[in-house]
Amino acid sequence: MEIKIVKTTNLKEKTKEDALAFGVHFTDHMFMMDYTEGIGWHDATIMPYGPIELMPSSMVLHYAQEVFEGLKAYKTPNGETQLFRPQENLKRMNRSNERMCIPQIDEDFVLEALKTLVKLDENWIPNSPGTSLYIRPFVFATDPFIGVRVSKQYIFMIIMSPVGSYYKGGMAPERIYVEDEYARTVRGGTGEAKCGGNYAGGLAAQQKVSTKGFEQILWLDGVERKYIEEVGTSNVFFLIDDVFVTPSLSGTILPGITRKSVIELLKHWGKTVDERRITIDELYEAYQQGRIQEAFATGTAAVISPIGTLGWKDIEMTFNNGEIGEYAQKIYDTLYGMQTGNVTDQL
Ligand code: PMP
Repeated sequence: MEIKIVKTTNLKEKTKEDALAFGVHFTDHMFMMDYTEGIGWHDATIMPYGPIELMPSSMVLHYAQEVFEGLKAYKTPNGETQLFRPQENLKRMNRSNERMCIPQIDEDFVLEALKTLVKLDENWIPNSPGTSLYIRPFVFATDPFIGVRVSKQYIFMIIMSPVGSYYKGGMAPERIYVEDEYARTVRGGTGEAKCGGNYAGGLAAQQKVSTKGFEQILWLDGVERKYIEEVGTSNVFFLIDDVFVTPSLSGTILPGITRKSVIELLKHWGKTVDERRITIDELYEAYQQGRIQEAFATGTAAVISPIGTLGWKDIEMTFNNGEIGEYAQKIYDTLYGMQTGNVTDQL
């Protein structure tokens, strides 16, 4: 399929790099293509970033048949543009599409579209340490119909946003709270798909922990309410007795691309990684015995977020004296270095 390119005649003014927040500013162009049952994907176009027209009856607005992805582009020291494992994101998108009954995208074609869009808006990629261009591919159901069924029409889009450093004053350990009232998902649900509904359902818990003075939620499984799943929009690792423990992908956890990279990196360094089920009681017992050396979360937004404090009921567990752990720092430096082309890809 040809990609039609309609360039903007009205280039936007860019925000200063030190004033960039997450997901507030958008680049000059966006990508869009349509899907029609019986025809497939068509009308692939790069066009000026701006409002789109939708019928109020569009199915996504009512039943949330929708999927999204998130990845980043970086500038290397010699000025080249580098994406970090974009194929992994497109593969995950197709797995999410399958779960949400959305037609598959052609991963090679979408990668080409994504690269063409990034190239066109290349001068939007910020340069200062910690900054990047966040890329958001998403797909949603557009049938003008308010019965509950699978849509026959979709729109796929890519928009891009220059983002500032996640940590303004350098990496900082976070305060996380173990959520024991709300659940994110259950086995057989949509937890391993990156669909908007999972996040809408998590907002009440996020609001609750914010009022308690915590930054993020640690989700427990939705049935027995004891197995550790993930942290906010990241996966989680604990270093216990020199073994890196991370919850196994049970069907309820989003398979993070950073998680996968961290596991590969740790194994490459000769470390033991145990992907298994771990309960909050086991974690607390290990904590009481002084066996937890470090805890950190992994995700595209921050790469690594050290967990300084974990609140659970009335208990507050502090890991590594609330400071950045040796491995949190080492993994961050290596992965971020690989993403920005400052460190040779070790994987
Ligand atoms: N879990 C959830 C629920 C997420 O939204 C994300 C962010 N995509 C992650 C984990 C981490 O995934 P990744 O490393 O691919 O960003």
